[in-house]
Amino acid sequence: MFTRYPINYIKINQPYQESHKALDLGWSDNYGGKNQPIFACDAGKVIYKYKQTKGGNTIRILHDDGKVSEYAHMQDGSVLVNVNDRVNLGDKIGNMGNTGVVTGFHLHFALYKSNTIKESNKLNPLTNVYVYDDQVIDPNTKNKYNFIYYNDKNVKYIYNVDDEGLNVRSGPGTQYNIINRLQTSSKVNVLDNKNNWSKIADNSWVSSKYLSNDIPKYKTVSGVTSEPLNVRNKASILGKKVGKLFNGDRVQVYKTKGSWSKVSNVSERWVSSKYLK
Ligand SMILES: [Zn+2]
Repeated sequence: MFTRYPINYIKINQPYQESHKALDLGWSDNYGGKNQPIFACDAGKVIYKYKQTKGGNTIRILHDDGKVSEYAHMQDGSVLVNVNDRVNLGDKIGNMGNTGVVTGFHLHFALYKSNTIKESNKLNPLTNVYVYDDQVIDPNTKNKYNFIYYNDKNVKYIYNVDDEGLNVRSGPGTQYNIINRLQTSSKVNVLDNKNNWSKIADNSWVSSKYLSNDIPKYKTVSGVTSEPLNVRNKASILGKKVGKLFNGDRVQVYKTKGSWSKVSNVSERWVSSKYLK
């Protein structure tokens, strides 16, 4: 769920609209020119590389959250990646070009909700892709469109969700549809908050109580001589027993207090730190 604009000079020549569900991104002589480099908008695997009649040199990347990004009209001979290559966010994949059916040099940039390449599965990059501090937006583009900005302070980690993951819903409440699931330790960027719900992308909300400022550390229960290891509701031997753990169990530590570790962040669940390795 972390995407960055694929070029460092951002100028929208053609916005996302019903007849063109993608952004056409232009260029400037002052920032890399007609062949400015194109970078992977997020980590993932290259799943498509083809010179289309219309799209010219086109690349698609399947991202770790299931979304697909597409880059078209790339310069001949500039493409640096191949199908099945793993890419990281910000890796250079090629240069802007004018291959295929075009009126000028530009990057046609499209996003798909999942690996189903059809019009109805497309997402608006403007509300799903972040502008980073080091990227420049053309002044006219900036006046005309609302961008979302990446901000370190808004980065949170998902914690304490079960194996199924945390539900991502289309709105701020359990009455909205589940559109995705995210696993513990996934990074999200919080854009807005409403009644204990956090907005992490366009039409994507998660319950705020499962978000933490830190990456919760995993530890393994070990060295317990008389199992089980009691989980207590206070960082004290006087706390009430609220659960049990056994050697080999894995827990996440959210907080420590004296010689005690808190192994949940939604309820008071404490164990003696000396049995966590
Ligand atoms: Zn286009």
